[in-house]
Amino acid sequence: MPELPEVETVRRILERDLLGLTISGVEVFYPRLIQTDLSDFKENIVNKKILSLGRKGKYLIIHLSDNYALLVHFRMEGKLFYVDSLEENLNKYVTLYFCLNNSHYLIFNDVRKFGVMALYKENELPSCKELVNLGKEPWDIDSPSYLLNAYKNKNYLIKEGLLDQSVILGLGNIYADETLYRSKISPFKKAKDISKDEAKKIIENASLIMKLAIENNGSTIRSYHPSKETSGNMQSFLLAYGKKGQECPNCHTIMEKKFVGGRGTTYCPKCQNVKPSIAITGKIAVGKSQVTSAFKKLDCYVASADQLVHDLYVNAKFIKELQKKFPEVFNQGKLDKSLVIKSMTESKSFRRKYETFIWSKIKDLVNDFLIHHTDKVAVVEVPLLFDAKMEDQFTYLVGVESSNQVKHLISRNDLDYERRLKMNERNSYDLHRKELDFIIDNEGSLVELEEKVKRIYMNVIF
Ligand SMILES: [Zn+2]
Repeated sequence: MPELPEVETVRRILERDLLGLTISGVEVFYPRLIQTDLSDFKENIVNKKILSLGRKGKYLIIHLSDNYALLVHFRMEGKLFYVDSLEENLNKYVTLYFCLNNSHYLIFNDVRKFGVMALYKENELPSCKELVNLGKEPWDIDSPSYLLNAYKNKNYLIKEGLLDQSVILGLGNIYADETLYRSKISPFKKAKDISKDEAKKIIENASLIMKLAIENNGSTIRSYHPSKETSGNMQSFLLAYGKKGQECPNCHTIMEKKFVGGRGTTYCPKCQNVKPSIAITGKIAVGKSQVTSAFKKLDCYVASADQLVHDLYVNAKFIKELQKKFPEVFNQGKLDKSLVIKSMTESKSFRRKYETFIWSKIKDLVNDFLIHHTDKVAVVEVPLLFDAKMEDQFTYLVGVESSNQVKHLISRNDLDYERRLKMNERNSYDLHRKELDFIIDNEGSLVELEEKVKRIYMNVIF
């Protein structure tokens, strides 16, 4: 999806080509492209001269004679090309073209067909539905209090705040991450909690990065033509976006990635003051929950994947979704757990599908827990960490081991322990053992165990 800098680059290139030309005809292949009345559009756009090209956020605004203005939003894949012939450029992705009075054409090529256009009178522009709710571009924000006021009653995280186009305009996911990284602000901080100084840094860095991106695009896009490569070289100045698992250029800490409102968010835990997260894993009955409790005593936030699963099954929305996806485990509209177990043992493909579904839910819940608990160390007990492929979500992985598994199970009065131990063989703990950052040998007393946990805590916190 083009971000503001790319739209600005396109504006500059097209302005060079189009200024002073007159639209002499129009062909619309995909009527839904036009957001205003189609016949008015076709009638009014003809014989209009192109006076100038402007932009607001990601909207390109083509100012025309007789006080008309054409709004264009490229959405996912839309592109406007100025070409000298239709023949080689007309394909099934062209949703519209304009004929120009110099025998050239302006074609709108849109593979995904999400792009839109709208024709307004100039005086309708400020209040039209496309522009009326748009906030300010970073360089137009004259005071940090603009941001403080805008975020005052919002209950979202600052990462979401930077993507909120009704407040600050033009920052997409990439530039939002870059802005927060350079401002040394946690993406998981509540937007309403940012200080005046932080708001100032956001405005400065957002302006700087967008200007850098515009310059960069301008210098790398030499030509803008359907047959030529037009993507800019913006990778070269990105410090945070897409750098998960790499060293922070500033402090050499490993960069991490989480999700905020479904958008991947990369950050440096140290520079942006996000406390580390720890996964506790291990086989059955090795004392994982004892370890988790010991972390809790050290004032860490704790959660358990098993508890999250348990909570899921009492969540009406989840049950509804489950019923839609796996109707075979429902009996007269009610989830029947024995049917789940039966299907699991009978069909490998069911098991795979079912587990993948549950684990993706747990992954989201763990992500949510972690992004909302970042001012202290957050610890989550995840028995099937590697099977669920959740190892990426944590800063540190701690394995718990014990040779007393059978003893533990018996002491729990678990008469079914043989079956449980066998079931536990599926746990791919051994396979991934070398990926663990710490291993706790749970062989001694509880006091000794707490000592071991404390040592790990001291290690990760400093
Ligand atoms: Zn750093």
